[in-house]
Amino acid sequence: QEQLPRPAATRVFVVANQKGGVGKTTSTVNIAAALTQLGQRVLVIDLDPQGNASTALNIPHHQGTPSTYEVLVDGAAIVDVAQPCPDAAGLWVVPATIDLAGAEIELVSVVAREQRLKRALDAHPKVGTLEEAGSDRFDYVFIDCPPSLGLLTLNALVAGAEMLIPIQAEYYALEGLGQLLSTVDMVRAHLNPDLDVSTILLTMYDARTRLAAGVAAEVREHFGAQVIKSAIPRSVRVSEAPSYGQTVMTYDPGSPGALSYLEAAREIITRGAL
Ligand code: ADP
Ligand code: MG
Repeated sequence: QEQLPRPAATRVFVVANQKGGVGKTTSTVNIAAALTQLGQRVLVIDLDPQGNASTALNIPHHQGTPSTYEVLVDGAAIVDVAQPCPDAAGLWVVPATIDLAGAEIELVSVVAREQRLKRALDAHPKVGTLEEAGSDRFDYVFIDCPPSLGLLTLNALVAGAEMLIPIQAEYYALEGLGQLLSTVDMVRAHLNPDLDVSTILLTMYDARTRLAAGVAAEVREHFGAQVIKSAIPRSVRVSEAPSYGQTVMTYDPGSPGALSYLEAAREIITRGAL
């Protein structure tokens, strides 16, 4: 298997778009799995109470499982709640349980409530440079956000340095992006000056329709070099993989969806090296 260079320090990506169903979770789990196939070690943090990323990565997340909730609300250490993904060596997951639905409200009265995830990540012994953290360090952290701009997503935006925004290639694609980007500006001004919208990914791209091509052209015109060259095609294989407890990377590695996620992961690695 192909081995690409590991980054100098852990890269933390926030996968966010307050619109639901645009491919945040699908992109998180498949890019994470693809990165491990390219020789990277990856931690996925499920920050959506629905726990779809946990399900897709075959991680138990019934109520009572130590999870993102314990990290955010009780101050549990990430290293104590992360579980290895059975489907990909080098991939670890902090699952989300339904308890996380209450965290949004419970956190309101907590000190530095928007810094909880950042503090937990900073305290992780396997996040940082290779010298600090050793060769089993996490090279990438992906935080899968819920479809809202509340306190959970805010915690992610404070904890991360790079943002990956999946955009579904359909008619209303750009609607709501203004709100997302002004939230990013607010976070940058007050909470996390390092936050960079580094990566835009076109998802569920249907090459047969003029509409998709038009939306893609518009997104590329607006975001330019931030847009990943490889658009992710709409494919049944991608959507059915989670029901087999697999990512499409192992469910059907030769399929167009898997190949384009692998290509996207390769591009993410290469750009970071620039
Ligand atoms: P989000 O996390 O943004 O809510 P999901 O990743 O859960 O979005 O995707 C929403 C739905 O679209 C899911 O049912 C998923 O299986 C499906 N889906 C995502 N990407 C693709 C794709 N490339 N081809 C076909 N279906 C997809
Ligand atoms: Mg999701």
